[in-house]
Amino acid sequence: MITHGYTETMATSKSHRLDLTRPNWIEVDLNALDHNYRLLKTLVAPGIRIHPSVKSAAYGLGVAEIARRFVELGAETIACGSLTDAEAIREAGDTNIDLMVFGGTLPSGIPRFLDLNVMPTVHNSEIAEAVSSLAKTPQRVYVKVDAGWGRLGFPLKTAEGAIVRIASMPNIVIEGIYTHLPFTDLAGATWAQERTILFNALIDRLKKRGIEAPVTQARSSSGVLLGIKDECTTVCPGSILYGKPSLAEGVIEDLGFEPVLSSIRSRLVHISPNASDKSSAGFSRFAERVAGATGVIPFGRKDGNRTPRPGLTSYAILKGIKVPILSISSELSVLDLSSVPNPRVGDEVLLLGRAGTEEITLAELASNQDAGMNDVLLMMRDRMPVIFRQNPATE
Ligand SMILES: *Cc1c(COP(=O)(O)O)cnc(C)c1O
Repeated sequence: MITHGYTETMATSKSHRLDLTRPNWIEVDLNALDHNYRLLKTLVAPGIRIHPSVKSAAYGLGVAEIARRFVELGAETIACGSLTDAEAIREAGDTNIDLMVFGGTLPSGIPRFLDLNVMPTVHNSEIAEAVSSLAKTPQRVYVKVDAGWGRLGFPLKTAEGAIVRIASMPNIVIEGIYTHLPFTDLAGATWAQERTILFNALIDRLKKRGIEAPVTQARSSSGVLLGIKDECTTVCPGSILYGKPSLAEGVIEDLGFEPVLSSIRSRLVHISPNASDKSSAGFSRFAERVAGATGVIPFGRKDGNRTPRPGLTSYAILKGIKVPILSISSELSVLDLSSVPNPRVGDEVLLLGRAGTEEITLAELASNQDAGMNDVLLMMRDRMPVIFRQNPATE
């Protein structure tokens, strides 16, 4: 257990205050984030910039604190998923960090980008026109190209003309031109490589017409991990910086990225010592299933805990012992404590993390709940505080 010798910082956002009436919390390991950032740096050529993605509140871990850490590690621009992420960073007092937002937005949302000094993504001409007409001074923007993912951006076929037009509009400065080609397997890598060649060709054609953005970018986590070749100045990884695999299992060997989400914890608020006792008239509905005590944590469905798929059992870890979760209701979950010696109210319970030889991983939790790893975190974030731990020895 990593409690001693560590400094703790509470997340700053108001929804993240520790609530002793509901002692649930997430622990984040900032040293793992440092390690992952430095490891990723060794995978890209020298001089290539890293613009980390902090979308969806830094993949659920707390956007302001994580963004600040990335800047300390050397990131020049932070990629936000929405204006909500950017706002949280500005509200935490970081007014000088360069922020861009992936989009998409309505043109009528552009004034808020300008107010917060955040670079929007121009993913259609309506947004370009809104920026150009609303900005009072030259505004840096990112232009997005749809190279085949089929979501936001100017299609490859028409992007050249569109970008030339945008570059000539008043009060618009093209800071970046980028695309997004995510994939999880080798077939996807082949597709991404083909599309990247087309994106490179577009950048070359624009260069010949005198348009050269400081930032060109086509690779996220999977593209960096599998070494997709591009001629860009920048990469924009997210998942892998948080120690979350972006590729399917077995596609590449373990490179040593570490989970930044170290644990999800709660505390016992109630114990029924004789839950197995069938001698009394009103015996517990769990009496047939347990051999001793049951315990309750205030960690129910509203906190993001979900009933496992039929036939599966979810577990928690208490005093280094893996215990079955007997029921998950909206506010509470009931644990089988039969195998735990002397459980006490206040004892710490791990819903995710490692204690001794036992471990519950995010992948396991997600698979049990038939959900994606991001989905599990998205269910829990903003519902409990996040505690950021760092080892002073490596500060
Ligand atoms: C999410 C995202 C990324 C980062 O992707 P990861 O797979 O998490 O590395 C980069 N660019 C865009 C546009 C994204 O939406």
